[in-house]
Amino acid sequence: MKHTRCVTTLILTLCLILAACASEPLAASPLSAPAPPASASSAGGVVTVTFIDVGQGDSTLIRTANYAMLIDGGVRGAYEHISHILDAAGVSHIDYVVATHPHADHIGGLVPLIGNNNGISIGTVLMPNVVHTTRTYENFLQALIDNSINVVEPYPGKVLELDDTYFTVIAPNSSGYGNLNDYSVVIVMDHAGNSFLFAADAERESEAEMLRYFDDISADVLRVGHHGSRTSTKQEFLDAVSPRYAVISAGADNRYGHPHGVVLDRLARHGSRILITFELGDIVMVSSAEGISVEY
Ligand SMILES: [Zn+2]
Repeated sequence: MKHTRCVTTLILTLCLILAACASEPLAASPLSAPAPPASASSAGGVVTVTFIDVGQGDSTLIRTANYAMLIDGGVRGAYEHISHILDAAGVSHIDYVVATHPHADHIGGLVPLIGNNNGISIGTVLMPNVVHTTRTYENFLQALIDNSINVVEPYPGKVLELDDTYFTVIAPNSSGYGNLNDYSVVIVMDHAGNSFLFAADAERESEAEMLRYFDDISADVLRVGHHGSRTSTKQEFLDAVSPRYAVISAGADNRYGHPHGVVLDRLARHGSRILITFELGDIVMVSSAEGISVEY
């Protein structure tokens, strides 16, 4: 009873936060980037994308010349490895954290990241306006509130420019989905002629909407939807994205059987190079004017 009341209070607080964001004049540009520090290096150069091996879950660190973005944080137990990656990269401030949707394999590790006194500061959290009634989600909301984190609901078509890199939100395009995965915030990153599509756990309904509402969703790299589950990466979506690289984040011998054979076959037939975290560990891609290099 107490737990239910607590969750209700947190959800109401979140709704107020999101409603306040939507009604402020700033909403015209809620994703505008803070000015880079005076000592910042000039824009250009490389963007580093690290698909962090968080087991069964998802977490991607993106670093431009002056900014850092973290898309999801895996399960809570992934926090240690993520903080090690941040440390190694010299990241002590994450300008944007994207909590794509409220499932524990995406937000679990964000709870200690936001809440711990760990020397890592967070700028803005982007998250969809949907709630979930789990202890993990409750802890996540509490961490946001306790640390007075700026929360913004991204909307499709919004473009965030960080240095010479553009992040376009292409989903979710609706509300009232029957499936929490379809609320996933999906982002396309464009840098130096290279593009990455981070599909989170979007499934067929959201994929169909992306196809309907966006003329061009082609990308060199696809972070494959829903850990390679057969619920996602439908043929039409794959044809439209047409990725050279397909990155799948999943844990070895996970109980869902991710990635599913039908998706692996589809990707292979398409000619995409398949890279899986449980086989390769952390996968690092560096985007530059010369193209994309891959290390693992
Ligand atoms: Zn997931």
